[in-house]
Amino acid sequence: MEIAIHQGANTLGGNCVEIQSSDHSILLDAGIPVNANPSLSSETFNNIAERANAIFISHPHPDHYEMLTWLKHDTPIYMSHGCKKIIEVAYKFGHTQYKPTNVIALDKEDITIPNAGISVTPIAIDHSGFDSRAFLISDGDKNILYSGDIRDHGRKQYMTKKLPEQLSDNIDSFILEGTLLTRKYKGIQTEQEVQDKLTDLLKDNSNLCLITFSSQNIDRLVSVFKACLKTGRTLIIDPYTAYTLQELKPISDKIPQYFWNNIGILFAADSNTRAIAQEQLNQFSRAKITKSRIQNNPKKYVLKSNRYVETHLIDDHLLNNITLVYSQWSGYTKGIWKNEDVHHIHCSGHAQIETLEKLIRDIDPDKLIPIHTEDKNAFGNLDLDDIQVTRYA
Ligand SMILES: [Zn+2]
Ligand SMILES: [Zn+2]
Repeated sequence: MEIAIHQGANTLGGNCVEIQSSDHSILLDAGIPVNANPSLSSETFNNIAERANAIFISHPHPDHYEMLTWLKHDTPIYMSHGCKKIIEVAYKFGHTQYKPTNVIALDKEDITIPNAGISVTPIAIDHSGFDSRAFLISDGDKNILYSGDIRDHGRKQYMTKKLPEQLSDNIDSFILEGTLLTRKYKGIQTEQEVQDKLTDLLKDNSNLCLITFSSQNIDRLVSVFKACLKTGRTLIIDPYTAYTLQELKPISDKIPQYFWNNIGILFAADSNTRAIAQEQLNQFSRAKITKSRIQNNPKKYVLKSNRYVETHLIDDHLLNNITLVYSQWSGYTKGIWKNEDVHHIHCSGHAQIETLEKLIRDIDPDKLIPIHTEDKNAFGNLDLDDIQVTRYA
């Protein structure tokens, strides 16, 4: 099998990897880089996609799927059930231009590519993107492991920790993300620590807590919700978040829902709310919490922020009596989140260097191929004995 990293070798995301075996090929991810323009044009991407028998998407972050917007062929696209749901929701609310079509939701079984002699095994792993998969690609002779985005400090850390033991055969090539090779992450290390830090902050605190995090980061939502349970507060979400959670309900009954105790909904007159059917909004109204209820008893609530809340609800008076918590990547900080009183309580979606090193040693591939990093040759600085690390020109 031949491996071509078409995009993502020297950027955060924008992954596009082609695995070729005789006359056949598959693509792993098709994203747009986080902080850079894509190096592939729509035409080049379509030329690559045209010869692919299938496209596999590791998880629902745009730097792994957004290039599918350009796709002009009816190539089958495989992704996990959760990944499909998250992208469908993102499309419904106009957060992506990509409308999932020709999508086959992955179960646990291997996917065999017809007539190509290639099999693909999806392996569930821990990442901040919901229901993420790594992929093991085999042609019966060689084995290639593709990490997607990976960490081992989230709520599904056991998945990443048991990854090496799930691989029965020798791995010839390991295509591994290296986000934190250059972005030394000094903040909170684990999702459990996020929950604990937040719990400590909310204890003996008489303010309303306003917190910002991504509605699609379900690990984080659970951490915030658990901190609310431990401190007797109610988490107030918006209809868009309530809708996202409702869509994910068939995938896990552990995902908090709007009708649970300690969850409420603040209705916002915004486009996200207008995108939800009236029938659903009527359902959600049983969990409705009004602004005046929050004002009358602020210490009882943790309010998930959004643009509507920040522009219509937070006046100067309220701002003096609010504990602000910023719980996502600090690259996005703007508006009230620049305030020096803001508490930054967040952990990365990506593995620390020590985790990457351990993974490489435990998996012990013949060859390591870096991807998803801002320094394409940074893996070369690690001491990896006889593992050959691909150096890019
Ligand atoms: Zn990524
Ligand atoms: Zn990701």
